[in-house]
Amino acid sequence: MNYTTKEIAEITQSQIIGDKNLQIHHIAFDSRNIYSTLKTAFIAINTHKNSGEKYIPQAIEKGIKVIISENFYSEYDGITWIIVENSVKFLQDLAHYHIENHSIKTIGITGSNGKTIVKEWLYQCLWNEFPTVKSPKSFNSQIGLPISLLQTSEKHQVGIFEVGISKPQEMKTLEEIFSPKIGILTHIGTAHSSNFENELQLIKEKLILFKNSEIIIYNGDNEQVCKEIKTQYSDKKLISFGLKTHNDVKIICNYNDRNQEILVQYFSEKLSFPANQRDEATLTNALAVICILKEFGFTNEKIVEKINNLKAVEMRLESVNGVRNNLIINDSFNLDLDSLIIAYQFINQYNRDEKTLILSDIFDVKNDDVSLYHKVAEITNQQNFKQIFLVGNQISRFQEKFNAKTYTFSTTKELLESQQLNSIENQLILLKGARIFEFEKIKSHLELQKHDTVLEINLNAILHNINVHKSLLKPETKMCAMVKAYSYGLGGYEIAEFLQHHHIDYLGVAYADEGVDLRKNGITTPILVMNPEQGSYDVIIDYNLEPEIYSLRVLELFANQLQLKGIQQKYPIHIKVETGMHRLGFKEHEIDELVENLKKYNVKVASIFSHLSSADVPEEDDYTMEQIHTFQRVSSKISEALGYQPIRHILNTAGITYYSDYQFEMVRIGIGMVGISANPEVKKQLQSAVTFKTVISQISEVKQGESIGYNRKYKAEKDTRIATIPVGYADGIPRLIGNKKGFVGIHNQKVSIVGNICMDMLMVDLQNIKAKEGDEVIIFNGNPTLEEFSGYCQTIPYEVLTSISRRVKRIYIKD
Ligand SMILES: *Cc1c(COP(=O)(O)O)cnc(C)c1O
Repeated sequence: MNYTTKEIAEITQSQIIGDKNLQIHHIAFDSRNIYSTLKTAFIAINTHKNSGEKYIPQAIEKGIKVIISENFYSEYDGITWIIVENSVKFLQDLAHYHIENHSIKTIGITGSNGKTIVKEWLYQCLWNEFPTVKSPKSFNSQIGLPISLLQTSEKHQVGIFEVGISKPQEMKTLEEIFSPKIGILTHIGTAHSSNFENELQLIKEKLILFKNSEIIIYNGDNEQVCKEIKTQYSDKKLISFGLKTHNDVKIICNYNDRNQEILVQYFSEKLSFPANQRDEATLTNALAVICILKEFGFTNEKIVEKINNLKAVEMRLESVNGVRNNLIINDSFNLDLDSLIIAYQFINQYNRDEKTLILSDIFDVKNDDVSLYHKVAEITNQQNFKQIFLVGNQISRFQEKFNAKTYTFSTTKELLESQQLNSIENQLILLKGARIFEFEKIKSHLELQKHDTVLEINLNAILHNINVHKSLLKPETKMCAMVKAYSYGLGGYEIAEFLQHHHIDYLGVAYADEGVDLRKNGITTPILVMNPEQGSYDVIIDYNLEPEIYSLRVLELFANQLQLKGIQQKYPIHIKVETGMHRLGFKEHEIDELVENLKKYNVKVASIFSHLSSADVPEEDDYTMEQIHTFQRVSSKISEALGYQPIRHILNTAGITYYSDYQFEMVRIGIGMVGISANPEVKKQLQSAVTFKTVISQISEVKQGESIGYNRKYKAEKDTRIATIPVGYADGIPRLIGNKKGFVGIHNQKVSIVGNICMDMLMVDLQNIKAKEGDEVIIFNGNPTLEEFSGYCQTIPYEVLTSISRRVKRIYIKD
């Protein structure tokens, strides 16, 4: 969105106190997640459960200058207030106005199960050809929907939004805000049903969303749904999908021993898919996606390709290998009777003899609903679980209804502390818990030892470190996060996705491939490609990446490619100026010619930048200042000649901490995110975001004079205990730190690496440390620190991190 405070007040008939001409691009409603305060207003949302107004001080502390609230608080200076009668209504009015004024093709998805999956999948399939906006996560409520709608901007052609209701009357309000052109109704079930008299009432409510739709694509497996849609909406284009034979779009042949493919019938056409998903819920959701792709005119060939490439939507029926040969199926996304049935269907495709169920209380339903738990027990008893763990005081009351050996616990904590989980082996374990039961903890307990060696990335620490650097800058200065080289070794899209969620302004990658990977994973933040290879211009344009242009030759080649592809609008590029690094960039004397060419081509200079060679070396201050002055001179020359002011940026992490006077309009943070700083004052405030750790595989007693490892490079000086650690040079531990050059941490003490480092293992001398097999080993973070470890390796943290091999599992932690 892009409105002034005055426009917002007018659209929503609210009162304004303060500056009428501030630009607002985002509305934040969660004070904890405010990342950028630039052009952002904070809305204090009052619901019957909570008043957002108590978070106003936090938002102002973070630098927010515009507050939308039902009440005015006079104690703050310099804040502009938009005073509204009802905060939720305000959001809805603004969202309605906003979406009505964008001519995009809208898709509205409702139903009980599968909304999020269908939305995410559609997004994965469409965004490449049609710039698409979607609801974040499962934002679909009275507040979530408007927040989602407000993300729409000029560049979007398609909007996919989830719409969810929990009681009667809500859909009417939502439909008044948002009338999708295309409606999708996914599976209808008993979720939230306690607020509805019966299924028919629920169906009727949901169907209100399609009042003004042109097309309705609906799951036709439910008879009442079919009947209602056909009576109410006979004048619209209707397409039913599902497993039953009367549907327009259906599965006619599922995977089985004889048939290795899945056959789908779309009206009279047949499409065949290789089978990588076989459970009914997944297949049904895929049918909905196929219907939409057909509506968008994709060929069958393209549709098959797109369906094959769908990525599983996280947090839903994930399966992971557990300890003791268990297989864990985790579905903690939502819990109601229907999703339980779906989970049971899902586990039946696994060929495991023995199954264990861990099930929590079920919400969304009246607590005293005895019949609900009777029903749960009834369907559960058909599944032949060997044992069942019930967690929660409600469900535990019905213990005797379950046929299997059943144990009860009031909380997840109690179950974990009981040690009972440790005796489960060779089982398929279905974890089905309502969110508040935090079954993730059970999952991580059961899968813990799977990855002995991990690189653990603390995303909260990354955010903290970004905020420490932000605090050195003006609030309006933009930030580009450098995520080149697999985000400095920390991971591909996981880091970018997290940064995007926190509204980072730009992402920087080295090569086009890296940018393409991010886009394929749904990253929509602008991406700067610093080393656009000649052969990659095509994909750069296809994936909406923004190249660094560092010479006249590159400019011309790129401009030709734009021409060739017939790109109409001015394409954003970034001009790199050479100021003293002597790597890439335009020299000062080339500027006149550069500007002449820039005017000729169909490009827009999004930014002008340069790179400091020695911002982390205080002794080179003169040189750095010279670079900065050259940059100032050259960049003004370019912008004057262009007649507009592109963003300027020169500071990297070290630059931010030492030269913040020269932040211009943007800075580029890299290693600082990880918690490294050349500036000791800043370093103190940072948190180390990366831990490389493993566990001891084996301990052996070694007698004096016995040799350790290849080529007998080390002989024990006295009788000692040697621990073997399962990491080697193939994991990124340089061989040069063997033979007592390097250390790892065990029981918070440094122990020295003895003998030559092997490909997949190394040995350390435990001396007197009372460690046992299976104990944790810290390669870095803590004792030793990443900096110390880099010292052993005679290099810098950048090289250590980017050398950690891809086979080391990256784990992301976040509150
Ligand atoms: C990698 C890189 C950065 C980030 O550097 P840090 O020292 O990690 O902050 C900034 N700018 C450019 C051009 C880079 O290549």
